[in-house]
Amino acid sequence: MKKILVLAIPAILTACSAQNKKVENADPMDYANTITAAELKEHLYTFASDEFEGRETGEPGQKKAAEYLKKEYKELELVSPIGGDDYFQEVPTSYFKRGNVKPTENVVAYLKGSEKPEEVLVISSHYDHVGIDDNGNIYNGADDDGSGTVGILEIAEAFVEASKDGYTPKRSILFLNVTGEEKGLVGSKFYTDEPIFPLENTVANLNIDMIGRIDPQHAGNDNYVYLIGSDKLSTDLHQLSEAVNARYINLDLDYTYNDENDPNRFYYRSDHYNFAKNNIPIIFYFNGTHADYHKPTDTPDKIEYDVLAKRAKLVFLTAWEIANRDARLVVDKAADTTGK
Ligand SMILES: [Zn+2]
Repeated sequence: MKKILVLAIPAILTACSAQNKKVENADPMDYANTITAAELKEHLYTFASDEFEGRETGEPGQKKAAEYLKKEYKELELVSPIGGDDYFQEVPTSYFKRGNVKPTENVVAYLKGSEKPEEVLVISSHYDHVGIDDNGNIYNGADDDGSGTVGILEIAEAFVEASKDGYTPKRSILFLNVTGEEKGLVGSKFYTDEPIFPLENTVANLNIDMIGRIDPQHAGNDNYVYLIGSDKLSTDLHQLSEAVNARYINLDLDYTYNDENDPNRFYYRSDHYNFAKNNIPIIFYFNGTHADYHKPTDTPDKIEYDVLAKRAKLVFLTAWEIANRDARLVVDKAADTTGK
């Protein structure tokens, strides 16, 4: 049905082909498939290498990581939402309650929406980790959260590819690589206190923290991801997320940690919570914990790259739907502000 219109007015479409085309005519899987295990692996073997020294907030390794992200965004020709060449949102050292943290920054890149540019979807992950211990062991943080960080780079590339074909998303997308997560969700706290785009125009946050491994509970079944928070604020978001997965990806969506009585309280433990407490619907994508969690052995050789790619595709396709649907997601539940 959609193609009849295309055939009826080819001249107009040709004239507009470098501009935006009807995004409804695009097949988002064409762009999801630009997210590949090979590219994720290439990024992560750099990003979680010893050269980045465990990416501790404020330390030289974190600065290298920030520069790496900036270089990648510039190569993708994604603009800064701050202006000019400034892809860094400085986070004041006064925000850090623990330890003596040197200046640090969130890394931000932006794709302006074609129809509702004032409405913004935030896709986030933290790029900091815990650094080097007193014995000189480097904590590479390949899964935590190198996996989410390189996932965002590939998701950004997929949106850029679509945009080059004329399928710019209707709503704007902010790619937000936060710092200071391991110091207490500090970068995301600062972002939501001093948002680049008003929180009231922020339609959702998709947060990725550890999506490259298989936890012991799923040994032998790697076709899963834990979803946390999808139904807490917006029934719309939960239904959209389920429908996108059923249509395109078919991962087992495991809601074990979404249970309010789960003792791990993961809902309060990564960056999405700073959005959720401000009434912004969120989904937290997570593979669960494992023996290498917060150990020097969280290394890139242990990542399951095919699984990482599949999970990143799910985030991309969910983002695509949120950014392109006609109506903004409806918030129909009250925020839970009982976290820290
Ligand atoms: Zn993490």
